[in-house]
Amino acid sequence: MSAGFASIVGAGPGDPELITLKALKRIRAADVILYDRLVNEELLEYARPDAERIYCGKAPGRHSMPQWQINELLVALVRQGKTAVRLKGGDPFVFGRGGEEALALAEAWLPYEIVPGITSAIGSAASSGIPLTHRGVAGSFAIVTGSLCHDNEKPPRWDLLAHSVDTLVVYMGVSRLGEIRAELLRHGKPESTPVALIERGTTAEERVVAGTLADIHKLAEAMKLENPALIVVGEAVSVRESLLRLEAEARLRIG
Ligand code: SAH
Repeated sequence: MSAGFASIVGAGPGDPELITLKALKRIRAADVILYDRLVNEELLEYARPDAERIYCGKAPGRHSMPQWQINELLVALVRQGKTAVRLKGGDPFVFGRGGEEALALAEAWLPYEIVPGITSAIGSAASSGIPLTHRGVAGSFAIVTGSLCHDNEKPPRWDLLAHSVDTLVVYMGVSRLGEIRAELLRHGKPESTPVALIERGTTAEERVVAGTLADIHKLAEAMKLENPALIVVGEAVSVRESLLRLEAEARLRIG
């Protein structure tokens, strides 16, 4: 039997309209879709009615299907001749373990492709009015993990990040917000540094709060911040405040 094909696909940051045309085409053509928790399920409506849908999602701290099993399943499906889509939230290569799946397919000498997606930092920052770079304010940004759940991972160098990058976007940092805040303050970031928390960015349920390193942990508690959420640190966050102020002024004048 000839081998099928695997597409490791980014579904975008949450709003189903933010998927790429290429990703949508792959969903429509798939025999089988292996999808994650962060994928907007509306996107599965584009699949063929007879397409098999397999949930591989992980809740924070729990693994419903271990990564090795997902890799093996993907390899087995492609060996059976299936057109398989591995659908992941955001971009498959940004904290998405898509690289591990690509390696498993490549090691089995099976054909595959990677379809990029809008990662949640890019999507959520833009949708909430925070330009990750802004002339005269922020000339660099970094995407960082706030979680240390994999023992082989080195923790981020907060000492260097605090000084060398203008805007920091922390993924998987909700449960460690207090520690991350303390690290940044310890390494000399001023208490007045603006910080935003974006929960369910780009979706209809998006919630955003902004404060500073001085009070952000309290704001998170007050709003009962939940996953999935991002922590955005840097002066760029204050551009959102300007946008909101100007929008409010415009509404007053017009209204
Ligand atoms: N591959 C994904 C990231 C997976 S890691 C991507 O490119 O976006 C999971 C983390 O992504 C979550 O803990 C959260 O920090 C972030 N995340 C994903 N979707 C999000 C959303 N809609 N709003 C805010 N954060 C999100």
